[in-house]
Amino acid sequence: MKYDENNIFAKILRGEIPCKKIYENDYILSFYDINPQKKIHALVIPKGKYINLDDFITNASSNEMTGLLKGINTVAKMLKISVDTGKGYRALANIGEDGGQEVPHLHFHLFGGETVGKMVS
Ligand code: 5GP
Repeated sequence: MKYDENNIFAKILRGEIPCKKIYENDYILSFYDINPQKKIHALVIPKGKYINLDDFITNASSNEMTGLLKGINTVAKMLKISVDTGKGYRALANIGEDGGQEVPHLHFHLFGGETVGKMVS
């Protein structure tokens, strides 16, 4: 499967579509989900062109992997939902068709600010 340069998150990364930015560094961009499912619903995406988590794990560099994981933690701290700044959160990545992934650029959802509930519905 080839990376779709015109997916919505690619357009956000290129600045062609606005987003409500939370944080950005060399490796990741984080912004609020347009259709929040919990009180806090942030997205964290790598800047590299990776379709999903499997693609990322197979092809990303160690620095990109570290950057994404640390980025999730940084954003969680900024939003005061990490276990040391708040009460915790759920990080979730939908992967592929059965995983319910709609946007084909890897993204982690961070849900928090309230009790998130049991796993998936
Ligand atoms: P997925 O189902 O692929 O895991 O999640 C895609 C997420 O992207 C959804 O939660 C959806 O609300 C969000 N989304 C789709 N289009 C946009 C957009 O243009 N801006 C933002 N901020 N989020 C979007």
